[in-house]
Amino acid sequence: MSIEALADKVRAGARLSEAEALEMYLSAPTHVLGQLANQVRNKRHPDRTVTYIIDRNVNYTNVCVARCSFCAFYRPVGSSEGYVLGFDEIFGKIDETIELGGGQLLLQGGHNPDLPIEWYEDLFREVKSRYPAFRLHALSPPEVLHISRLAQTSVPDVVRRLVAAGLDSIPGGGAEILVDRVRKLLHCYSKASADEWIDVMRHAHRAGLQTTATMMYGSVETSAERIEHMSRLRALQDETGGFTAFIAWSYQPEHTELQGVEATGVEYLRTLATARLFLDNVPSLQASWVTQGAKVGQLSLAYGANDMGSVMIEENVVRAAGAAYCMDEIEIVRNIEDAGFDAKRRNMHYEILGGPIFRERQVPRMLELGVARADGDTSVPAELVNYPARSRAERDRRAR
Ligand code: SF4
Repeated sequence: MSIEALADKVRAGARLSEAEALEMYLSAPTHVLGQLANQVRNKRHPDRTVTYIIDRNVNYTNVCVARCSFCAFYRPVGSSEGYVLGFDEIFGKIDETIELGGGQLLLQGGHNPDLPIEWYEDLFREVKSRYPAFRLHALSPPEVLHISRLAQTSVPDVVRRLVAAGLDSIPGGGAEILVDRVRKLLHCYSKASADEWIDVMRHAHRAGLQTTATMMYGSVETSAERIEHMSRLRALQDETGGFTAFIAWSYQPEHTELQGVEATGVEYLRTLATARLFLDNVPSLQASWVTQGAKVGQLSLAYGANDMGSVMIEENVVRAAGAAYCMDEIEIVRNIEDAGFDAKRRNMHYEILGGPIFRERQVPRMLELGVARADGDTSVPAELVNYPARSRAERDRRAR
């Protein structure tokens, strides 16, 4: 089919096949892809609103046994640079988030063998008892799998226990590309195969949780595999309807074992626009300004995105791989409004909470991203001894 015929098909509201989406991605002029994605976006979100959320990305540990080759964040078990945040450190981060108008943590971390499911349950319960209205958007599917393997219990049981302790929703991290050929090349097949990632999300949706979906592109996958990834997400969304949003970001190669070069801004915009055309059942698409910077992030709003993601109070994972873009609420709102949209604060369920908080009350400016821990801080949280150590390195450390 010609590009013009495919464009007509999109305008008529018909669903693109994988082959058709690939054809659009590979051959449509960039401005045509953008125009079409913008039309689809406007049809779904006709009120010219662009949303964002004030939350904080907290990485509770960087110790990880998965050792994905694209990751610059993790430290192996026993590393002197490995950390686990203490409950009090996490409460301090929640206090700062609330001061900035936020109501949620995006809590993710490495696959640490010394953190059993009880550690997560105790943390979640404690957060909910201190901050009853605060939301926990936590633990990507590979983390849920890791916890289930450690606990030797099923994924549905882990989801049930974590929800009972206070889990509100699950972030779509760890998806990378949902094609096992790619996952094996990236050394992330053993942490979760494509089927396992999808299955955790299926169980989460069945348990009533809403989740996001992500894609890390630009490493070793082919263009067809990017579309195959989106196709897996679209099929699950047809089945469960549990995805609120799709977020694509480009692989960040600095300091990684895999190395390579980062995809360009145009490639990002083409990928985003194709996602808007293909993922016809996912309501929201986020602009990944965290990896693309504010300017491409703003341009994303003309290529299908209707959400600017999060005010990034803290970031550790992408920064470890070389990207450290920072925008506080004032900057995010300036970028949204300069692009001709109305900026609205939302929660994880994409419900509108109101206008910018800085117009309602004074909030501190945030011109630098926070980090999980200050450099050189090697403190070990006191409560860790409440949980049995599983790794030899941790057992040895405690014996000393
Ligand atoms: S991406 Fe996640 S699972 Fe993979 S090595 Fe990094 S922290 Fe571990």
